[in-house]
Amino acid sequence: MTTTLLTALNDQVNHEFYAAYLYLSMSAYFEANNLNGFAHWMKVQAQEEVGHALKIYNFILDRGDKVTLKSIAQPPTEFKSPLDSFQQALQHEKKVTGLINSLYELSLKEKDYPAQVMLQWFIDEQVEEEKNASEIIAKLEMIGDSKGMLLHLDHQLGKRKAEEE
Ligand code: MG
Repeated sequence: MTTTLLTALNDQVNHEFYAAYLYLSMSAYFEANNLNGFAHWMKVQAQEEVGHALKIYNFILDRGDKVTLKSIAQPPTEFKSPLDSFQQALQHEKKVTGLINSLYELSLKEKDYPAQVMLQWFIDEQVEEEKNASEIIAKLEMIGDSKGMLLHLDHQLGKRKAEEE
């Protein structure tokens, strides 16, 4: 593939690992605050992000190109509330959606058909990611200060299963 596309894909591997770090930091926050269901949901999400990174990593290697791993930035470590955490998650997913869309545009420009097919999976995935975060934000807004309702949502989120790929 072209150097421009390869650099951008290696950068995306880094962004996906950063997302895993971000969700893991959120998981630690929830665990420390005794919201183990939320913590579980975030840990499953972190694992999914590692899966996203590896999908691109494998694609680069399958194409006979070079994977270049870079340092992962430190994620935030303090969150004001469950709502604050999910708002930050949604904000991050919107950023990732923009990055994926730019990568897709680049793959069109470079006429890299295999990259286009690979990136289509990510385009669908981003719709899911934004929907999931938005739904939980809406529920947290409904819950407001009700501790009982928060514990109910915690129980629900604790049931999240790891996705099979
Ligand atoms: Mg991702």
